[in-house]
Parts: sequence; C-alpha cells; structure tokens
Amino acid sequence: EWTAQVIKQDEIDRYLKNGRDFIDEEEIKSLLQNNRKSDKTRVRDILAKSLAIERLGPEETAVLLNVRDDDLWEEMYETGLKVKQKVYDNRIVFFAPLYCSNYCVNSCLYCGFRAENSHEKRRRLTMEEVKQETEVMVTEGHKRMMIVYGEHPLSDVNYMCDTIRAAYEVKKPAPRGTGFGQIRRINVNAAPMSIADLHKLWEVGIGTYQVFQETYHKPSYASLHPAGTLKGNYRWRLYALHRAMDAGIDDVAMGALFGLYDWRFEVMGLLQHTIDLENHFGIGPHTISFPRMTPASGSDFSANSSYLVDDSSFKKLVTVLRLAVPYTGLIVTAREAPGIKKEVIKVGCTQTDASTRIGIGGYTETLKALQEREDYPYEQDQDIQQFTLGETRRLDAVMREFAEMGMISSFCTAGYRCGRTGDKIMGLLKSCKEGKFCKLNAVLTFREYLDDFASPATKKVGEKVIAKEMEEIRNEPFFKKGTLLATFEEMLRRTEAGERDVYI
Ligand code: SF4
Repeated sequence: EWTAQVIKQDEIDRYLKNGRDFIDEEEIKSLLQNNRKSDKTRVRDILAKSLAIERLGPEETAVLLNVRDDDLWEEMYETGLKVKQKVYDNRIVFFAPLYCSNYCVNSCLYCGFRAENSHEKRRRLTMEEVKQETEVMVTEGHKRMMIVYGEHPLSDVNYMCDTIRAAYEVKKPAPRGTGFGQIRRINVNAAPMSIADLHKLWEVGIGTYQVFQETYHKPSYASLHPAGTLKGNYRWRLYALHRAMDAGIDDVAMGALFGLYDWRFEVMGLLQHTIDLENHFGIGPHTISFPRMTPASGSDFSANSSYLVDDSSFKKLVTVLRLAVPYTGLIVTAREAPGIKKEVIKVGCTQTDASTRIGIGGYTETLKALQEREDYPYEQDQDIQQFTLGETRRLDAVMREFAEMGMISSFCTAGYRCGRTGDKIMGLLKSCKEGKFCKLNAVLTFREYLDDFASPATKKVGEKVIAKEMEEIRNEPFFKKGTLLATFEEMLRRTEAGERDVYI
C-alpha cells in the first residue's frame, strides 16, 4: 500500500522527451563501438578541451574510454590532476556518513539491507541515538555529514527531517583548543521521493541530495531490482534529481554502483544524466560518486558479478569522469582501501570520508570499545552493514597521510552558507574562481581542526601545510586584488585567537 502511494507517474512523465528517457542503450553502445580507433591527436585535442574546463560530449568521452595505449593513459592521468588543481586546487574535503536505519522494503541483489536478507539485524536510530552518534562524529572533528536511510515507511521523510534537525542541534566542546564540535552541513542519501517530500527536506536545511542510479543499463537494472518493489521502477529513480531541482534543492549528486554492469557503459550513463540535468536546469550535479561493489551480507551476487571492476580499470574510469565533467566534485568513499584511494585522489577526486562507521549505531559502539581498549582493532560486522569498508582508519590518521602528501584537508561549508550553490557555484567552478575561495576556507577549517582535534603528530605535519598554503595565497595575484587578502589574514588571526566558524 505504501509502495503504491510513493510513485507519482506525472512526476516522471514531465521530464520525458517524446515519451522516452535520456538513456538510449543502443546509442551508448554504438558510440563506444564506433570510437575504438582514435589517434593520439584526437585524444590530445579532447584533453585540451578538458583543460579549458569544458564539459565533454558523449562522443569525446567514448573516445577516451576506448584508449588502449598505456602512454596515452599516463597523459590522461596527468591531465586529470591538472584539471583538478585548476578547479579545486590541492585540497580534499572530508565528510562522514551517518546510517540511521537499515529497514528496507526493496530487495536489491547486491545489498545487505535488502528485505529478504534474514541475517541482517534491523535497527532504526531514535532521536537520542542520532544525537549520540553525531556527538562521536563531531568529537572526531567532522563538520559535514552524509545522512543515509534505507527505503521504508519507518524512515519516511518525516523521520528524515526529525533526524536532520536532531543532528544539527548537537554542539560539543572540542577535545583540545577553544572550539566546539558541530555539524555545519548535512547532505542526504535517500530513496527517490516526490517533489512535495523533497521540498520538506529543502525546508529543513539540507545541503546536497544524493541518489545513485546504481546501473544505467536497463536489463541489468531490471534483473537486480525485482519488479513490484519501489526500486524496481527505473524511471522513478532516473528522475529523482530532476524532482529535487524542481523542489528547490539546487545541489544534487549522482552516482553509479560499479560492478553491476560494464564500467564504460556506466560512465556514459553518468555523462548522459549530467547532460540531461544541464538541459533541463542549466546546471549539472554538484558531485559524482562511483562506489565499487564490495561483498555484502547474504549476497552471492556482490562477490561474484562478472562486471567487478579491478583497480586499473577503476583508476581509468575516475580519470575519464574527471576529464568529462571537469567542474564537478568527485567522491571516493571509504569502500576503497588506502592505496587505491590515494591513486584516484591523484587523478582528480575532491572528497572522501574517514572514521567511517556504516553499522547502525556504529560510531557509539566504536567509542565504547575504544574507551575499554585504546588499541581496539575495528572489526566489521557485515550483518549490520550494507557493504564492506576498505578504509577503517580514523580521520586524524587519514588527514596526516594527506598532509604528508602536501594536500590540505578541508571541512569548508562556506559556499552553501554564502549562497554559492546551484548555478552560482557552477559558474564560479567553471571559471576556476570557486577554488580560490575554497583555498582560503580550507586554511581556516584546517586551522580549526589542528587546534581543536588533531593529534600532536598530525598538528606537526599540518603546520607545514598551512605555511605552504599561506605562501601560495600571499603570492597569488587573485588574492592581492582589492581587500581580499587583508580580509582573509584578519579572519585567520581571529581563528588562531579561538573564534570559530569564520568563513569567506
Ligand atoms: Fe534498500 Fe538501498 Fe539496499 Fe536496495 S540498495 S536494498 S534500496 S538499502
């Protein structure tokens, strides 16, 4: 009964063109087939377009996906990094997910939360538990949360709004320094909703709304998501982000679960999705994610799919996405082990998570275990998780590693709170100006972290990163214009003196 109430057919039909959706399998397949033999000049022309921060077209993207020459791939990796540095500088934004409920009415074959998995221990956080989990997250130093729910009447939009409000309310003194821990931005990963429900999320003050299509290949989608379930409706999901835009949420995020079907096809699907959003609303996604399927409780498919993506192909697909949509953020999650994560950050990823716990109540349980035993080795319990993590280190350790690589970690949420969202942020990203503001805000939020949360070892290496960033900022002509540099230097002084949440 609930399932029948959720889907509004008119909120699908309004986005179709002549009754058809924007994914044309035959067209994607023929683009991939017909662009198998491009010469180096053609590939280099396409790379030049990426470097000019222009989105590639489907044919150009198909050319890149078909490159077989290893030397040319090396050029593409280098160009990916250059594009990232041009738009986003050398920073990486951190967030952490909060899983609120693992009840789900769907039965996706690859997922531990699916309704038919009798091994899964079901649980939904109370508001008190949401606050406890948030307290642990902010005590680690997190400022940005991705809140996640299964699809079920127990976690409907009203529950979502209550949990988001509860998480925003948490404010806790920091373990060191003068600051406090608080979530400043909550992004939402939730099932497709109606425009009316999405508007409720917008009203409660969310950042980005994220829905992954899982696979753009319709026959695979149909076999992995049984008919009759909510998720069995491909088009209801395909237009979830369109509806979000119409509900007023102008930051949306897309993704595909790599391993369900051919990775080249999925990259083309993500590009077509981006183009359709641009055609309808003038802006594409704020971020793109590309989780790789990992083993899940009670799922044979998750370990045995014939489309599992190896590390080499994974690096290639991330690189092509970086080149195809140069101004969109790319998220590599804690599904990935530290080694490959570093590799793909080098070719263009801009966001990642750390200290991640994906069991329901997982942050609080880890804290209890750490209080009993400081060297507690985190062990994953697949029967309370949706999938398996490859990165289980704490935020401080991951940030230290990135600082040693010369990268600055950022918790910046300024763009959203200064109204730099939607088409405004897209324009700034395309003109490479947003990265400049982000550089300043990265320094301010990194300074806060070092003073309030960092271990002595992380603080030591972090100070060197701040010194390097300050030198670059003081020598950058963009910052010397007008009063920007002076304003920023004053903000940094205030932050060093203990003021918090100062942003530009
Ligand atoms: Fe439910 Fe999402 Fe898992 Fe499918 S992937 S079973 S919708 S939680």
